[in-house]
Amino acid sequence: MTLVPFAGLVLDEAFRLLRQDGVPVPKPNFGPTANAGPGVAAYFDPHDWSITVDVFAGVSEKATRLGPSAKLADLTPKEAATLAGSCYHEARHTQQEFQAARLVAEDAHGTKTAAALAAELGIPEVAAAAALAAMPMSAVERKEGAEWHALSQGGRHADYQRWNEKLRYFTAELAAMSFWQDYSSKGTEAVYPIWEKVIHPTVEKRYRAEGLVVAARKLDQLWDLPHRDSVDLGVLYQLSNIRDGIQDVLDAEAKLGQTLVKNRANAVIRANTPVSDPQEINIRKLEVAAEEMSPGRDVLALLIALMQLKMISEDAYRAYPEEADAYKRGGEVASEIEKGETAPVPAATVKRP
Ligand SMILES: [Zn+2]
Repeated sequence: MTLVPFAGLVLDEAFRLLRQDGVPVPKPNFGPTANAGPGVAAYFDPHDWSITVDVFAGVSEKATRLGPSAKLADLTPKEAATLAGSCYHEARHTQQEFQAARLVAEDAHGTKTAAALAAELGIPEVAAAAALAAMPMSAVERKEGAEWHALSQGGRHADYQRWNEKLRYFTAELAAMSFWQDYSSKGTEAVYPIWEKVIHPTVEKRYRAEGLVVAARKLDQLWDLPHRDSVDLGVLYQLSNIRDGIQDVLDAEAKLGQTLVKNRANAVIRANTPVSDPQEINIRKLEVAAEEMSPGRDVLALLIALMQLKMISEDAYRAYPEEADAYKRGGEVASEIEKGETAPVPAATVKRP
């Protein structure tokens, strides 16, 4: 069995469970997920109620090399389990989105049409209609629905999630550029122009104007809330960490700028105060050599700050209530499969006595 039919069977099994819970089944797609962000193997898109799975996106080096002819047998048990786990992870997102929609529908007490609910939540009208027609929710379902709604479209922290996703993707791409390593071995005159034209304006725009300023405003709003629930506190905690990580990036960039400006000033001073004593000439040479190492050191320090911010931002993503829950569900399935408690091929296709 090749990998796409395998993922299809896993999704079929996951969808069977969704149907049991009255959740409208999403449309499965198989293909590249690169536009969803770096290293994304699968995603649920609430807008068209679909799950896209890329069976080659970082699942297995061997499978990636073999391409479409890669078979299930080419995956290690752990890789097969991981692929199945991400299918369940996305199916869980479908269930969460539906439960959140049911909550909003229920709280509207018949005042919202399917079209209005669909527009508010960014989901198809059929899914909104199903949410409106669903059974009354239990207290537990309402609590879960509220947690999953908070960061999604229409939720009170949707702005935070959108902002952190943008920060996470941008920082991942920036930190992965070969640029940093290239400039880490160069001196003042090579680094100065790229700092002035690219590094400084980019960091100011992305990490001060669109980063620190936005984080500070949202943090102030959270501190001002008269009552904070567990979701508010979670956002507050993660956002404080992200804010600190952004501050470290800004500090590292400022340090690089100071070094470059100071080195240029020193070069001017040296040119204006020539020395003739051979020992003094030698000391100057060593001073210049030491100075020329400093921009590279600062470039690497900035790269380290960016990589740390990327990790902080990823931690914040995994802490979104819907992600924490979906990772738990996907992880449970993956470890069952890996331990052999569940067949990698879903139960429905395995003949049992
Ligand atoms: Zn997810």
